[in-house]
Amino acid sequence: MTQSALPPAQADGHEVTPRLEIRNIRRFFEGRAVVDDVSLRVLPGQVTCLLGPSGCGKSTTLRMVAGVEMQDEGEIYVDGKLICDTVFRVPPERREIGLMFQDFALFPHLSVGDNVAFGLKGPKEQKRARARELLDRVALAQYIDDYPHQLSGGEQQRVALARALAPSPKIMLMDEPFSGLDNRLRDGIRDETLSLLKEEDTAVLLVTHEPEEAMRMADEIALMRDGRIVQQGAPYNVYTRPVDKAAVAFFSDVN
Ligand code: ADP
Ligand code: MG
Repeated sequence: MTQSALPPAQADGHEVTPRLEIRNIRRFFEGRAVVDDVSLRVLPGQVTCLLGPSGCGKSTTLRMVAGVEMQDEGEIYVDGKLICDTVFRVPPERREIGLMFQDFALFPHLSVGDNVAFGLKGPKEQKRARARELLDRVALAQYIDDYPHQLSGGEQQRVALARALAPSPKIMLMDEPFSGLDNRLRDGIRDETLSLLKEEDTAVLLVTHEPEEAMRMADEIALMRDGRIVQQGAPYNVYTRPVDKAAVAFFSDVN
């Protein structure tokens, strides 16, 4: 086991086991390290944001945590247990990880309720009850028997969130989840999403290229550039004490 690249995680002055910890992962494509010695962690009930410009390696990092891509070096831990190194690998479906992407892709031929129940196991009635409970949380229970195309973009996004949360994942991975949404809707949906995730006490790794989104949603920001984490800390600190001129430029850029 590699020594953690980060100091012990603290919450309220106590040492805590991170829900997710990535240690020193690397991923090479055609001889180039597109993810280069990345270490980061997410504490229970918190949002860590991987923030950086397009092409810096954010999605590749997320895919390795999801288990759909394998790192060439380093380890990934959930609740202190190894889930993946370069030889051992827990398959994606057994990682208790929920996913949300920009293209949230509800199944068009399934009702809203069946979309939310899709990944659940157990008797039909039980799955429907759980779907209804989650739809209630996102204030869409009245659409349980409707189809995705009958809902607005923002509503579909909330269904996608309900679907991702239905199996009670330990960790939610979100890759630019709000980029496809109308500007007018985005802030409201960001806030709703955040409060729902906090209610469920889900640990979130959020990927975005928008500083504003990171500032609004993150408990911790990891600033990424050319495959490496160049700065990590509380949003206020990262924003007010940028590590170098490129970080200043990145934060002042209106994306
Ligand atoms: P981001 O999500 O930050 O925009 P990505 O993780 O998608 O960045 O990509 C990081 C870099 O890795 C990019 O230069 C991209 O072109 C490259 N890359 C991603 N996937 C592959 C792949 N399967 N084969 C080769 N290069 C890849
Ligand atoms: Mg990406």
